[in-house]
Amino acid sequence: MATTALRAGLDLGGTKVQAIVVDERHEVLGQARLPTPRTGGPEAVVETLAAAVREAAAGAGVEPGALAGIGVGSPGSIDAERGTVATAKNLPGWPEEPVPMAAELARGLGLEIPVRLGNDVGVALRAEFELGAAANHASVLGVFWGTGVGGGLILEGTPWKGRGSAGEIGHVVVVKDGRRCSCGRRGCMEAYAGRAGMEARARHLHENKGRKTKLFSIMEERGRDRLTSGIWYRAAERGDELALELLEEAVGAIGTAAASAVNLVDPSVVVVGGGLGIRFGEPWVERIREAMRPSLFRDDDPPEIVLAALGDLGGALGAALLVAR
Ligand SMILES: [Zn+2]
Repeated sequence: MATTALRAGLDLGGTKVQAIVVDERHEVLGQARLPTPRTGGPEAVVETLAAAVREAAAGAGVEPGALAGIGVGSPGSIDAERGTVATAKNLPGWPEEPVPMAAELARGLGLEIPVRLGNDVGVALRAEFELGAAANHASVLGVFWGTGVGGGLILEGTPWKGRGSAGEIGHVVVVKDGRRCSCGRRGCMEAYAGRAGMEARARHLHENKGRKTKLFSIMEERGRDRLTSGIWYRAAERGDELALELLEEAVGAIGTAAASAVNLVDPSVVVVGGGLGIRFGEPWVERIREAMRPSLFRDDDPPEIVLAALGDLGGALGAALLVAR
């Protein structure tokens, strides 16, 4: 039996694993951040998760065996009952069939403590709902602006899952027959606002249309192979015209989709998070507010539209909430 109330939370992303160890008041006592392995498939990912737990536990001054449990927020299709993750397309080499991540992680650590899985966006929204920007609200729409644009709904205190895929705000159509989305369909908000879609657009305009931009030189300076949130931010700070144009287009698409979703479910608050959302912060949340206004049915009485309050650790804090307290 666990002898402490300490819990670990793991946020498994396409680029990094964030681990924390928290106490019963959700205070972070130890943390670790490791790159998500690009090769080696599920085995390598589970090894990295285990290493991150060990490092975060060491930071908190305890052995992993002293933890009451571990929660993991993961991309892909999660079966929380079985503790499996399937079709996590953000994770390189992840198979279509379910991988028993919970059992493998416990085994990797040589422990018999509970490991609970949840959807990465769902747990991040739960954290904002319980501990962060939506803490005094009954219903919230989450918009997580990152590589894609994830979304989630909590209605009257209950996560709304529909038949399993509710809240996919990134795939709300903002342009009929519009730009091709990563999901294969056309005109989704994510095709305009997701970091991956923005990068593809920037590359096309730069390489095929001769548009000048500092985006790719900043990428090389930083030794990166893709346009991270930080690179977009730096380019915008330097007044890069193409970057600003694509960011404005992204904000417009987010505004249209979020306003349409608000018109449908009428939550009292919209929380904007995700890698780009957190990096660009309040000034760009204000732009999203402005972009929503023309499409809001109750434009004289809009919901609160706020920046995620838990920052980079929101996903890991939400994952820790999966462990029964
Ligand atoms: Zn789509």
